[in-house]
Amino acid sequence: MPPKRSSLIVFNWKENPRTSKEAIRLAVAVSRAMRSAGKDGPEIVICPPVLYLGALSEKMISRAESRCSLGVQNIFWENNGAYTGEIGPAMVRAAHGNVRYAIVGHSERRRFLGETDEMIRKKILASLAAGLRVILCVGEPVEVRKKGTRAAMQYVKNQLKKDLQSVDSRLRGNDRIIIAYEPIWAIGTGKNCPPEDAREMAAFIKKEAHGARVLYGGSVNGANVARYICYDEVSGVLVGGASLHAEEIKKIIKANI
Ligand code: PEP
Repeated sequence: MPPKRSSLIVFNWKENPRTSKEAIRLAVAVSRAMRSAGKDGPEIVICPPVLYLGALSEKMISRAESRCSLGVQNIFWENNGAYTGEIGPAMVRAAHGNVRYAIVGHSERRRFLGETDEMIRKKILASLAAGLRVILCVGEPVEVRKKGTRAAMQYVKNQLKKDLQSVDSRLRGNDRIIIAYEPIWAIGTGKNCPPEDAREMAAFIKKEAHGARVLYGGSVNGANVARYICYDEVSGVLVGGASLHAEEIKKIIKANI
């Protein structure tokens, strides 16, 4: 088997931190950890609130390793027009060259903002057309997981089918779409998906999504990250809460060398 590629770590800061000064401090922690990791370090994507993209892009990321880029936590499917409050992929690309990724379909947006699979599908298509890479989040709720692995797989399979419908299959499996397996019951709860279950789901998703890289997300931190990334099927992690703490950032990056 060929050696495993370096891991991809996505830091999803959600609606945090409160100021751009704090955001820069966290980004500096990422940069320092990357420097100590050296050339064998992981690939990092920081997804801050859009308000901080400019500051991070200019002040910090430009000086950091080329293995570190920025992403947005959400994107709209139209590039401009009368859509109050929205930001499209072309606008994001034009504003900041090192914003290369868009998280699409996070369960918090599906749940709190009524994002549907059809909206997600349109967001994926628009992002790819504008040259953004997509990190598509999928994962089952606790009621489904209680029914067992087969039910969880069926749930995720349906999400993938709807979200990736009419996305040219040639685009999958070539790093333009990455899938994050994020069981909803494990996000921000401190409840971890057993690593062997995450591996099983990652293998299943990889097969369903034409060989796309699959990340695991759900209460990952410096103490447990190694238990996920040790598997060939798990290409990295998506980290929420722990990515807001410099010490955790350091441990997570170190564990991924
Ligand atoms: C997430 O933001 O998708 C996430 C997995 O959050 P946390 O690491 O806090 O569970």
